[in-house]
Amino acid sequence: MVTLESYVSGAWFRASSGFRPLIDPSTEAEIAQASSEGVDMGAACRFARDVGGPALRDLTMAERGGLLSAMSKALAEVREELLDLSVESTGVTRRDAKFDIDGATGTLAFYSHLSKSLGDARVLHDGSGDALGRSARFYGQHVFVPRHGVAVLIDAFNFPAWGFAEKLACAFLAGMPVLIKPATSTAWVTERCVRILVDAGVTPPGTLSFIAGSAGDLLSHLGPQDVLAFTGSASTGLDLRSHERILSQSVRVNVEADSLNAAVLAPDVVSGSDTYSLFFREVVREMTQKSGQKCTAVRRILVPQDRLSEVRDELASRLGDVVVGNPREEAVTMGPLTTADQLADTLEGISLVVQSGAEVVCGGAERVQGRGAPDGKGYYVDATLLSVSSAEQVPAVHSREIFGPVATLVPYDGSAEAAAGIVALGQGSLVTSLYSDDEDWVGRLLPTAAAWNGRLYLASKKMAEQAPGSGLVLPLSKHGGPGRAGGGEELGGLRGVQLYMNRVALQGSKTMIDRLVGKPSDES
Ligand code: NAP
Repeated sequence: MVTLESYVSGAWFRASSGFRPLIDPSTEAEIAQASSEGVDMGAACRFARDVGGPALRDLTMAERGGLLSAMSKALAEVREELLDLSVESTGVTRRDAKFDIDGATGTLAFYSHLSKSLGDARVLHDGSGDALGRSARFYGQHVFVPRHGVAVLIDAFNFPAWGFAEKLACAFLAGMPVLIKPATSTAWVTERCVRILVDAGVTPPGTLSFIAGSAGDLLSHLGPQDVLAFTGSASTGLDLRSHERILSQSVRVNVEADSLNAAVLAPDVVSGSDTYSLFFREVVREMTQKSGQKCTAVRRILVPQDRLSEVRDELASRLGDVVVGNPREEAVTMGPLTTADQLADTLEGISLVVQSGAEVVCGGAERVQGRGAPDGKGYYVDATLLSVSSAEQVPAVHSREIFGPVATLVPYDGSAEAAAGIVALGQGSLVTSLYSDDEDWVGRLLPTAAAWNGRLYLASKKMAEQAPGSGLVLPLSKHGGPGRAGGGEELGGLRGVQLYMNRVALQGSKTMIDRLVGKPSDES
């Protein structure tokens, strides 16, 4: 039995009690255990702030980027091992594991590359400055400086590598040390990544800490210079952001939570066209990749009423080809859900929507036998397509996130305005994908859809060849959405770095300010 350890105050810590088991979801075998009992969370935070913080702030942004590059390389060197461990311990197929592991190394490498353009800087300029007086002699300039705290990264179970790496990349570049607290159920992969980074000696002391097991009283030790970057369910997000200490200390919080993402087929997209093929390819992938346990997965499929039966039949046929089972089997294309709780929650969600009137097109609220899994074991469900007769018929379609391979077909009258209204019923999403070659139609949908989403994926024949799918979170684009999605913002190039910095307005002589912030002065 493997016992995961925490890495705090510069040393590995092994708990002796309070363990939670980690279960292989493909077989239900107990494979590891984790506990944070006995970890001194306050000391861990102080060590990160006092030792890791100054070490990072001493470096230029390009040098911090150098650390990210070394981290990316250290993880990439053991890619095969990490892929194997992901399959063995989290139930993902090898292909889905790559999405997480390569996403982690790729995002670290991206931010390393970005840092090169920042060179010797230790602060970020926030736009150009302004004359505040009669002339530019009295001048104002906003800059971002590193916060002097620790960035606590609390992540969901579905991305044990990318989840921490995308946050860490931005925090490190900003100059903040991190304390990683992954979801316990899949923490083995995260612990392995942290061990690799620590053993490779690519993180200065105090810059990287890790908690195996529950967060304990971690939040009670956070203060005004710290950041809490959370990804997970809306209910946990609410608990964390309303924690007394977080509120009283004005700890900066970013929340990435639930999302009922929509894919919208526009009426101009005719059968057999490039955009039509793209729509089916991507919707099926966004429903089934990582068994639908992706925050960006498609949950609602909006289709013009007169195309509903055609789309339903084609999607059902493609979803019928999905092979559900133990990801160690080569023929398997979709693994199990990650935990018993996830399975129960998914089955409950499907039942709720069906009992409220939705029709089951394929799949359903049933645990199934996975190919290559021990009899009756493993948290398997079929890819499930539901259908409603109108957007209003089952309100839960727009409010209950079913975190599994499940989506619902929703007919609309073909107008951009009606589609926009249905998208908005989700009360805030990470991404909506629009499949249309009609610019006017997209333009009419845009204002409302843009207000309710963090990202709009405008799929058309012109970009089909390079289309990565709406579910891929690219580090150059913002990740996060309003309302139900948590109201957070991550990534988006340098925008994501700002979360870990304090914006300060400097007022004074332009010459002095330009020198202090490292800008060439044009004032004589
Ligand atoms: P979760 O149950 O909310 O847990 C998320 C994280 O919070 C875990 O690390 C968990 O640790 C920790 N946690 C739970 N209670 C806590 C507390 N009182 N104090 C401190 N930490 C606490 O979510 P999940 O089941 O892992 O993930 C599924 C959800 O995440 C879905 O709703 C999905 O939409 C959302 N998600 C969103 C995004 C996004 O970017 N918007 C991305 C991925 C997932 P333990 O595991 O130790 O309990």
